[in-house]
Amino acid sequence: APVLVWFRDDYRLTDNPALSAAVETGAPVLCLAILEESADGLRHMGGAARWWLHGSLLALDESLHEVGSRLLLLKAPALNALETVASITGASAIFWNRRYGAAEIALDSTIKARLTDRGLKVQSFSGRLLNEPWQVLNQAGKHFQVFTPYLRAVMARPVAAPAPAPKMIPGGPWPEELARLHIDIDDLGLRPTNPDWASEFAPIWKPGEQNAQRRLRNFLESNLHGYALGRDLPAQDATSRLSPHLRFGEISPRQVWHAVTHLVGERPDLSQDAQKYLSEVIWRDFTHQLLHTYPHLPEKSHAPRFENFPWEDDSRTLSAWRKGRTGYPIVDAGMRQLWRTGWMHNRVRMIVASFLVKHLLIDWRQGEAWFWDTLVDADPANNAFSWQWIAGSGPDSAPFYRIFNPVTQGEKFDPDGAYVRTYVPELSGLPNAFIHKPWEAPVSVLKSAGVELGKTYPNPVVPHGPARERALAAFRSLRNTI
Ligand code: FAD
Repeated sequence: APVLVWFRDDYRLTDNPALSAAVETGAPVLCLAILEESADGLRHMGGAARWWLHGSLLALDESLHEVGSRLLLLKAPALNALETVASITGASAIFWNRRYGAAEIALDSTIKARLTDRGLKVQSFSGRLLNEPWQVLNQAGKHFQVFTPYLRAVMARPVAAPAPAPKMIPGGPWPEELARLHIDIDDLGLRPTNPDWASEFAPIWKPGEQNAQRRLRNFLESNLHGYALGRDLPAQDATSRLSPHLRFGEISPRQVWHAVTHLVGERPDLSQDAQKYLSEVIWRDFTHQLLHTYPHLPEKSHAPRFENFPWEDDSRTLSAWRKGRTGYPIVDAGMRQLWRTGWMHNRVRMIVASFLVKHLLIDWRQGEAWFWDTLVDADPANNAFSWQWIAGSGPDSAPFYRIFNPVTQGEKFDPDGAYVRTYVPELSGLPNAFIHKPWEAPVSVLKSAGVELGKTYPNPVVPHGPARERALAAFRSLRNTI
């Protein structure tokens, strides 16, 4: 009787504990993935992430072919799908790697109970994080609320060595009844067709395990050196861009960790940059730990008083933000990078998020939802935590009154305007002195750059100074609430 391996956000063969354990049983292994939808109680995956998932599943199937297997694709509520597969195949066991969102845990518990009742052995593994949420606790035995002590605790722990891919996955052909259940990947409807808003993704992004490994290698060879400083400059390609690969589990954080520490063993001069890089990867574990502890993070302000925040309900400014037409070049460049490429540089994510929440006084959940739909790396833990961090409502957040000035942020982190010029080409003729504040440019300068404010490029949707004062006043109004 076969062992089922249910792939969920762990679309790789290397360092995949559920897969390795299944192969070790010596029984035939049936690999499957299920397109889970809202019937499973899960949040509907955003459009850009669905685009990525298509590539992930395709690449996983190709890799499985190389080791004698293939990926069974199903589209049905997960419990029904698994019960059907179990009865067709007479499976003896099912293995999967654990996930940490409340809805996912609830679903997995139900499935575990039902399949155990049917006589299947159900076994789960740790494949998504360096440490599972309950593994890193403070001296009082509680989870950490603050990142720095969490980071120290993680750095003191060993990280298990990643396992190699199985050389061969025994399986044999699918029984006919099973083959009839298989949905062709193109029929899953994961990629947009008309209109194809993702047309610029394919030249930039290559989903799949092998591409993830390649990206990591290139990053370590070319960009780890200087990462600590370069990571804040959006015009430079100084970060690893591994986020969608990590999001879909095409590479594990353990693999990243070991590759980085191995390199530092040979190149001690890289240790500071490596330390900074690993601390970012550990942020990812930290946000997952918080999501596990506070499942409400994507839906509710963690600090209860923020539930009384006097948010503005302004569809005009929200739409200007989404479209990258706020009149603030660094904000607009970020929002257009997001729309065109499905990704935005971290520094700019912080600037645009602060702008939405503080300059426009729009509820952080609107921003979280837009990012959820448009980011290829949209991740329930990282996205929700980061939005609450910016809003000042989350655990271990930046204080609300820290309001980014979009002009000085632009001048500091994009000093020659190269990032703005890439994504807001209508401003590209402006000199550096005005690229982040075109409204201050003399008429003659605007004219020779071909910029007509209000026509070729918008005037600021809100003036910075008064918007800042309005945000602070709104925040002060919370003072008397808990
Ligand atoms: P690198 O700098 O190369 O970092 C390596 C890895 O570390 C990343 O791939 C990522 O997995 C992790 N990481 C880096 N920065 C952070 C961080 N601040 N918090 C948690 N993990 C981090 N990241 C997501 O993966 N998904 C999201 O949905 C997401 N939403 C965000 C929303 C906002 C408002 C903000 C401010 C940040 C968000 N981030 C999110 C975090 C961060 O911006 C991205 O992880 C990073 O830009 C990805 O690029 P990279 O892979 O080149 O990062």
